[in-house]
Amino acid sequence: MPDLALRGEVGHRGVRPGRETGPVTSAGSGHAAGRDQESSTAHAVPREAADGPPPWVAVCGTPVAVVQGAWGGRRGLGSGDVCPRCRELAPA
Ligand SMILES: [Zn+2]
Repeated sequence: MPDLALRGEVGHRGVRPGRETGPVTSAGSGHAAGRDQESSTAHAVPREAADGPPPWVAVCGTPVAVVQGAWGGRRGLGSGDVCPRCRELAPA
């Protein structure tokens, strides 16, 4: 049955979470401000990740304990302590 085999392959390739949403939200405002509680450094968390349940991981790979507001706001790039790697990877 060639029909079944074909369907199986298509389904396999179709189920790839994040592949389609990733590039679309990279326009700039697609990040939330996350905060690592131990160092209180602000990190950028992808918006789709921040909307989901914890644990949250910043674009630099650091796990963050709290997500608060927009990355371009006072809790993110506007704060005094910003992760340099996140600033590079997620410009506002
Ligand atoms: Zn970071």
